[in-house]
Amino acid sequence: MAIRTVVWGENVHDQENAIVQGIYPDGMHNCIAAGLNETDAISATSAVMQDPEHGLSIERLAQTDVLVWWGHAAHGDVDDAIVERVQQRVWEGMGLIVLHSGHFSKIFRKLMGTPCSLTWREAGERERLWVVNRGHPIVQGIGPYFELPNAEMYGEPFTVPEPMETVLISWYEGGEVFRSGLTYQRGAGKIFYFRPGHETYPIFHNDDVKLILKNAVNWANNPANPWADVSDAPNRPADEALEQPLEIKGPRLHKDGEAGLR
Ligand code: ZN
Repeated sequence: MAIRTVVWGENVHDQENAIVQGIYPDGMHNCIAAGLNETDAISATSAVMQDPEHGLSIERLAQTDVLVWWGHAAHGDVDDAIVERVQQRVWEGMGLIVLHSGHFSKIFRKLMGTPCSLTWREAGERERLWVVNRGHPIVQGIGPYFELPNAEMYGEPFTVPEPMETVLISWYEGGEVFRSGLTYQRGAGKIFYFRPGHETYPIFHNDDVKLILKNAVNWANNPANPWADVSDAPNRPADEALEQPLEIKGPRLHKDGEAGLR
């Protein structure tokens, strides 16, 4: 079965900025989804912030294998209840791909637990993205590096937790470097942060970017059944039936059969 993917767009610049509309007449989210749909392995649709429940109802998220997130100007307008809903699905095993200025979205910061801040400069400079791990599934088909002729610069320090893997590092004409492709796991859900995607450049029309996004959806997809009780299960005594014979050696605070919090 094709990987059910939802591309979520904040859809603010797409509605207000003539440059963005020129590059993405159907909106960035629909351009990204169309790129993913170039392969039969992925079935991508889009959702925007202005939809009821931001287009992310419980029912739709339950049918989503991988969620792609682009936001920038309106992070604060995203409903906290929806953010918690998305976090829950990531814990259960839904993949999440966070693009560009999505580094400062509620959902990414919540899942990372750190500020996720960085430095930036908008000078249209060249960006060279070096592949750090050439065997990683996300960069298959990419050379030693690829370049974007015009990019907004994002620089270190990028205040995220140390990732599972650094897949890409960017270098910019202005001299900075940045960890631009990072993987994480939270609960059963795999997360990929991918830096490119500034709205006033045709980043999502770039063939290397499109290939990396397709690879990333394949990587982030977790075919296991959702980990349904990942956040409901309380602390509880270990299953006695599974225990090895064990002599109790010290004083015990808790009474037999007590299920309280520890
Ligand atoms: Zn930007």
